[in-house]
Amino acid sequence: MIDDGFSPESLRERAEEAGSVFTAEELLATNKMVMMALYSLGGERSCASVFRAGRMLAGFFGVETLEDALHTFCELTGADYDLDRNYVAIESCPECLGYVNAEGAVCNFLRGFISRAAEHELGEVVSVAQVACEATGDRRCEFILGERGEVGGFDTEVDEMTAEDIEIVMSADGRDAVEVAAFKIASEGLLRCALSDVARPMFFRAGRLYARAFINAFDPEDPDELIGHVEEISGSSYSLEGDRFIVEKCLECAGMPFKEPICHAVRGALAETLEHWNVPFKDLVEVRCAAEEDEVVGTCVVKARGVIWKAKRVVDAVKRAFH
Ligand SMILES: [Zn+2]
Ligand SMILES: [Zn+2]
Repeated sequence: MIDDGFSPESLRERAEEAGSVFTAEELLATNKMVMMALYSLGGERSCASVFRAGRMLAGFFGVETLEDALHTFCELTGADYDLDRNYVAIESCPECLGYVNAEGAVCNFLRGFISRAAEHELGEVVSVAQVACEATGDRRCEFILGERGEVGGFDTEVDEMTAEDIEIVMSADGRDAVEVAAFKIASEGLLRCALSDVARPMFFRAGRLYARAFINAFDPEDPDELIGHVEEISGSSYSLEGDRFIVEKCLECAGMPFKEPICHAVRGALAETLEHWNVPFKDLVEVRCAAEEDEVVGTCVVKARGVIWKAKRVVDAVKRAFH
């Protein structure tokens, strides 16, 4: 990770650049798909990891009071807050925006953020319960300090989502791209830190799962059709040169303050796509990642090793798709 990469100044700068390249819908869709996939895979353990990621953000903000922390958070993400003693409300919550099929409160990142900021101010351990959530139809997301609550979740597996569900995930509802980018970078980026060594396999599996969701939801006839959908949803573009898959304007690492290759979900999605169309391969390795090259938005390259090219008919179809 880049030192200070998650400070408010760094986040704002990165979000401004990512938000000038991608639309709010593109940023939101990928953020929610990858987060929902991680929740699907990890259940309560993922809730705990997202909670820890939120705590880390409050640590990076390094402010004295919960009020200051909320103020900075809302300035970055376009949310509004209301703080009254042990009660916090977040309106236009960036965390549950676009989530579908929530069966309980799902704002674990914010819960973690609030708990850490409150602890910093009060000098003692503070538990936080979420008692209302926009994702379940409440007017705003509400939190009570000093209480423990149920940890929420989703009642539909990501790979059972319909095309309509995906439309909802993409509805950024008039939000500002820079604000959506700020929350995406903070939540996904710090989740990688919270997951530590497990980030690589978890994001890979999440990528597989959301590719599976797209395949199930859109039922594409060939890779070409699938890639058309994914390009439309993500705003990235994909091509194939030899055995190298090139992702231009890669959205996974857009704005992420890391110095190593981090586009594991891209590799996972590619693995799922190749397998779906029966293209055998040994593994997928990162050749280039924009994050590693210090590009806020850039090109990532993945090499498919050990592709059995004699499965020629299918491979040709895949190649045509990545024109
Ligand atoms: Zn929320
Ligand atoms: Zn990337």
